[in-house]
Amino acid sequence: MSDTWKIVMVASECVPYAKSGGLADVVGALPAALQKLGHEVIIVIPKYRAIDAEQFDIQPFLSPMGVWMGDTEEWCAVYKIQNQAGVAVYLIESDKYFDRDGLYHDAEFNDFLDNPRRFAFLTRAALQLCIDIGFKPDVVHAHDWQTALASAYLKTWHWDDPVLGGAASFLTIHNIGYQGVYDAGHYDYTGLQWGNFTSDKFEDHGKVNFLKGGIYYADLVNTVSPTYAKETRTPEMAHGMAPYLNDKGENYVGILNGVDYSQWNPEIDPLIPANYSRDDLTGKGICKRELQKRFYLYEDGDIPLIGVISRLAHQKGLDLLSGAIESVLDDMHVQFVLLGSGDKALERYFAHLPVRYPGRAGSYIGYNNELAHWIEAGVDMFLMPSRYEPCGLNQIYSLKYGTLPVVRATGGLDDTVEQYDEATGGGTGFKFIEASAHSIYYTVGWAVSTYYDRRGHWDQMVRRAMEKRFSWDDSAQEYVAAYRRAIENKKGL
Ligand code: ADP
Repeated sequence: MSDTWKIVMVASECVPYAKSGGLADVVGALPAALQKLGHEVIIVIPKYRAIDAEQFDIQPFLSPMGVWMGDTEEWCAVYKIQNQAGVAVYLIESDKYFDRDGLYHDAEFNDFLDNPRRFAFLTRAALQLCIDIGFKPDVVHAHDWQTALASAYLKTWHWDDPVLGGAASFLTIHNIGYQGVYDAGHYDYTGLQWGNFTSDKFEDHGKVNFLKGGIYYADLVNTVSPTYAKETRTPEMAHGMAPYLNDKGENYVGILNGVDYSQWNPEIDPLIPANYSRDDLTGKGICKRELQKRFYLYEDGDIPLIGVISRLAHQKGLDLLSGAIESVLDDMHVQFVLLGSGDKALERYFAHLPVRYPGRAGSYIGYNNELAHWIEAGVDMFLMPSRYEPCGLNQIYSLKYGTLPVVRATGGLDDTVEQYDEATGGGTGFKFIEASAHSIYYTVGWAVSTYYDRRGHWDQMVRRAMEKRFSWDDSAQEYVAAYRRAIENKKGL
């Protein structure tokens, strides 16, 4: 078997063109790391309205391109960008499906009703593009429910195609909470025969489940951390997918995401008030003061400052935090800042907190990348009480910024944060198991007492945390090993 392969990534998001979550970071970073290892990668994403043609030098590439969906042929155009790493990114233009504001929903967070059609079309179009340009992939790598149908198309439509017939199918699950479950009426449009609409494949309580069908047909499935791979084999954590993931046996694995240290590194970060390193933390003190000023907190270098940056979603456990933070602020000498948006009731709650705790609590409701960098650099501890967390990025950034994570021991949080050992001063953060306000309160208390009473341990942990590295180069090596297994599975080796 050759050691370098042709890989097509099909996805609904990719940094820097379109992002709603960690999926976009993976699709943006992994191809470049794979290319460094000698593989040839192309990326296919939608041409959303928000992607600025001039900013990214988007060039027309192919028009029109016909795509068969069941019994109907639909038409689109293809554009191309050569990204900064030299990877070719193809954008599928379909006004009907992608020329609107928002990726998946409107401004009121109502899902677009034609989402199953939009992403079935994207997936079919990506495969058609491979045929039209003669790109003969060794691996078709799909991401989440939006492009999960790729594996089904490869196995049921293209099994003897000269271009696609040899391709192994690979599916990454970034968050099993989103499966693409729709009325069965949408199934016709996919063009996948009704013979596949069975309970082991696409059928899910009378509806069509894109992710489930994709899992069935993929030669290999992975998720974005080893612990989340284990958790999603259990009924409690898998949103109904545990039996199907267990059926994959060894062909369901966890590979931890890397992070982009060119963007998230306090030594070179141009967005923060002062740079600093493991050997000279003076700049971190400046970042803390500036952050306190920005949020109208009392300026005090010696008070532990707790930070949160998060989508305000059920998954992230911030409703649990809302049940603990007032006791934390009442009982402990600490300050608190939060940056986030999402659930309206939580937005209101956290927006109001600074009024009740003036000088000690701050919040910014909205999305603000610069402020996210300020918080990572300026706080002492970073809180992530997630109910589940496939990988999580912020805790990894925190380590690099010498900000100790206080996290629930779940998914990627458990894999990336090492528990503090009070006997030796070992570890890089503070972990708790139970998803409750009580656990948050007591674990924050444990961190705060370490800050005040075991300062030597705290300082050692900060330095140890800053040495940790979760690079895309390492993750890409693991993807290569997994691709090899997918190719072997495809060939029946
Ligand atoms: P998820 O993808 O589930 O939202 P992650 O921790 O994997 O969670 O990634 C979240 C990313 O989004 C991080 O880069 C984080 O800094 C960023 N982020 C989340 N909310 C905000 C916000 N309100 N403002 C700025 N950045 C945010």
